[in-house]
Amino acid sequence: SEVTMDKIVALCKSRGFIFPGSEIYGGLANTWDYGPLGVELINNIKKAWWKKFVQENPHNVGMDSAILMNPEVWVASGHVGGFSDPLIDCKECKSRFRADKLIEEYYKGQGEEVVGIDGWTNEEMLNFIKEKEIKCPDCGKHNYTDIRQFNLMFKTFQGVTEDSKSEIYLRPETAQGIFVNFKNIARSCRCKVPFGIAQIGKSFRNEITPGNFIFRTREFEQMELEFFCKPGEDLEWFKYWKEFCYNWLVELGMNPEKLRLRDHEKEELSHYSNATTDIEFQFPFGWGELWGIADRTDFDLKQHQEHSGKDLTYQDPHTNEKYIPYVIEPSVGVARLALAFLISSYEEEELENDSRTVLKLHPYLAPFKAAVLPLSKKLSDDAFKIYQKLAKKFMVDFDDSGSIGKRYRRQDEVGTPFCITFDFDSLEDNCVTVRDRDTMEQQRISIDQLENYLEEKLQF
Ligand code: ATP
Repeated sequence: SEVTMDKIVALCKSRGFIFPGSEIYGGLANTWDYGPLGVELINNIKKAWWKKFVQENPHNVGMDSAILMNPEVWVASGHVGGFSDPLIDCKECKSRFRADKLIEEYYKGQGEEVVGIDGWTNEEMLNFIKEKEIKCPDCGKHNYTDIRQFNLMFKTFQGVTEDSKSEIYLRPETAQGIFVNFKNIARSCRCKVPFGIAQIGKSFRNEITPGNFIFRTREFEQMELEFFCKPGEDLEWFKYWKEFCYNWLVELGMNPEKLRLRDHEKEELSHYSNATTDIEFQFPFGWGELWGIADRTDFDLKQHQEHSGKDLTYQDPHTNEKYIPYVIEPSVGVARLALAFLISSYEEEELENDSRTVLKLHPYLAPFKAAVLPLSKKLSDDAFKIYQKLAKKFMVDFDDSGSIGKRYRRQDEVGTPFCITFDFDSLEDNCVTVRDRDTMEQQRISIDQLENYLEEKLQF
């Protein structure tokens, strides 16, 4: 049967992946807290990204910049002036919507492809909404206000007085922290173009319509790479990173049938962008952007050069040529990835006399790499020693309660790739039975070999 959002949300809550935020106080709309299993999953996603984008990549380095920045950064980047969404209210029930999303949903309802709404003016959107008599999703009427632009930046105050001088913003993206450190990093680490700077961190946007579980929230974590290259070589690198991101997803087990690449049309492109492609995932609520890959030309560095008055040009050490590098930006949200991996790996299987829910997560992403299960409580102490030994290297679980069948099901449901059963024979032959989550096949393995066995299976 089909995977639905309800099933994913229920599994996440009951098995300790994701809980509604501040739940005992009635919650705070669209906030989510990651439980013991969820934090492992998102940490593994971040580790997998860092491994391929920084550790194994000869071009790239990492950084971690502050969430709070000088407000001038956001003037230069265009966020103060232009980082806004088109807001529209229903005059009947007072519900608020993003005008572009109303139109997108309308198209989806007609079974049509949606392209290029990003390029529409407010007037064009309003005319379309009126002409098609698009109904309010909450009350079904079609009586709307005009469209206004609503700035998405979160404001807060720094210091002890709440005067306007100390008004600052929570960053709406991590990218600007990279751009303002371009010179520091290039100089201190002797980076030669082409090179990239990668960062993982929290961002905040006062979204008008958050929702779909962890797909769109106001506080979220991003993984961004700013890859600097020579003007003219940008489209080649754009293609390179687009493929790199796609392959990263597929190598981590994401179902390619649920992925598609959507190139932005000319009218949809930001004025500074040479090319933009979204890697989209087929969520139960429709296709949604997972990863945005954009050729941002020299727009950001130029803006910062202008506003800061600091020289941000790069000098080629061989040719002495001076230029402001172009930048390719692959930007992805950690929670969106987690949601996509959960959906892509979720399966309900009918077995001979049973059925099971299983998360077929790549072992690198699985919260627990293995579970140690003594067949009888009498064997718990001996089995626990194996758990302790493995826990030095891997995140592993130990479970000695309930029938072995039930314990297998519990591990299947949270995606544990290997169940290690310790039985009475183990006391004699120093071996355990290792059950594979996906094939359910069992194999007798020497306890001494367990670490090597797992190590090999976790390769990514
Ligand atoms: P949308 O048009 O859907 O609001 P966007 O085009 O503004 O998204 P970007 O600014 O390109 O999004 O952000 C890059 C990535 O960060 C997105 O692909 C997504 O994975 C993630 N992201 C952006 N906004 C959110 C959010 N509110 N909640 C969770 N993840 C987000």
